[in-house]
Amino acid sequence: MKLHNFGQTWSFSPGELLQPRNEREIADAVSLARKVRVVGSAHSWSRGIVTDHTLLSLDRMNRILHVDRAALHVTVQAGIKLKDLIAQLAKLGLALSNLGSIADQSLAGAIATGTHGSGRNFRCLADQVEAFRLIDGEGRERWFTRGQGDYEAALVGLGCLGVVYQVTLAVVPCFQLHAITDLAPYDHVVEQLDTYVNGVDHFKFWWLVPTNKVILFQNHRTQNPRNDSTLKRWFKDEFLAVSVYRALVKLQRLDRERLVPWVNEQLGEQVGKRFERVCQSHVGFLTPTPPVHRETEWAFDYADAKSLLRDYRQLLVRSGFTYNFIQEIRFTKADPYWLSPAYQRDSIWLSMYNMDRADRFEQQLQLFERFARERGGRPHWGKEASFDLSYSRSQWPRLADFCALQRRYDPKARFVNEWAAQALGL
Ligand SMILES: Cc1cc2nc3c(=O)[nH]c(=O)nc-3n(C[C@H](O)[C@H](O)[C@H](O)COP(=O)(O)OP(=O)(O)OC[C@H]3O[C@@H](n4cnc5c(N)ncnc54)[C@H](O)[C@@H]3O)c2cc1C
Repeated sequence: MKLHNFGQTWSFSPGELLQPRNEREIADAVSLARKVRVVGSAHSWSRGIVTDHTLLSLDRMNRILHVDRAALHVTVQAGIKLKDLIAQLAKLGLALSNLGSIADQSLAGAIATGTHGSGRNFRCLADQVEAFRLIDGEGRERWFTRGQGDYEAALVGLGCLGVVYQVTLAVVPCFQLHAITDLAPYDHVVEQLDTYVNGVDHFKFWWLVPTNKVILFQNHRTQNPRNDSTLKRWFKDEFLAVSVYRALVKLQRLDRERLVPWVNEQLGEQVGKRFERVCQSHVGFLTPTPPVHRETEWAFDYADAKSLLRDYRQLLVRSGFTYNFIQEIRFTKADPYWLSPAYQRDSIWLSMYNMDRADRFEQQLQLFERFARERGGRPHWGKEASFDLSYSRSQWPRLADFCALQRRYDPKARFVNEWAAQALGL
């Protein structure tokens, strides 16, 4: 059986694909395997799930197990997809406090790579985890609770310490977002960056290269009732952002160099037209599933944000390449998770997204990586990067400690695949 990732940048055939139904079956599978990895939704561009040996899918472990309304804690099986979790929580009048741009990932997969949304006071999504359990490389159960033991080391664990099978999340009562979309000049946003980032609960922006405008997303948390119309939502989220966009991308193939800048200009004006609504939180956080594309995204020190943004603009505009996808800029709060790209650092995340020929994308990636390394960026573990080990060691001060911990949890190196060996030095 052949599996490939969302980005269709690679495929592989595992020796066997198992779907355990409980922790006992996971422990048995791990104990019998020579090598083992876990797959969530295969939405990562990095090769964390690739193995010739045993691949575990927790698709059958996807239920809510317990709801503690007083503590606002929900315990779930870790294979649940975020979109299913969101829907089931909504029926209970509950919500996840923060989300990334899509919800197709599995909960455990999103936690494992430090997946994030945007908001100066919000950390990566894993920060919503109060407790979790995994089966380590010896088939033993290990339990973790916030602030205790190896919790901070193991939470963003890249599937290297064990199979996470149960997660207790801190949830919140359902809430709405007062979501404002707007268009603004790039330079203005850089000048006023602190005002936007500090003044909006969840602020992010999209830039369409090489225009001088950006599309702002200002999401304020509110308990005000919804006022979004289904028709308007369909027009903006489905018709403009999906159907029109996909048609334009096809059209660009006729003359990429001339059409991409023109389309980006038009698209920016349309998608960025001021639009305001009060909507359910997940509607405001999430964007429609994009077409297959390539992505790299790096976290930098927020202290350098303004100069970074100016240099980044020059980098892409002068690169000689065309970018037919949005570039996304987001913000997160420093966190204590050893392998999180926002470890101990309030962060600005810069992306380089594109749909282009593979050879050209490789050049774009190298260009972006050089820029990012010179400025102390840390790559998103689930996206594309060369994951240069000596560079990673200089950027993640606890990387060596993580590797030492990994050897304790998994002395037979069952969870070490080629990617983990190269990226982490395991
Ligand atoms: C369209 C799209 C939009 C995206 N948007 C965002 C975004 O807004 N923000 C962001 O930060 N990232 C984003 N990403 C990246 C994505 O969130 C991460 O790559 C995420 O890890 C994918 O989750 P998954 O369930 O597909 O995990 P997979 O890609 O299947 O696996 C990722 C890693 O998690 C490990 N893993 C999976 N399950 C378990 C488990 N039960 N126990 C232990 N380890 C496990 C795997 O072994 C692997 O190492 C996006 C990706 C796509 C394709």
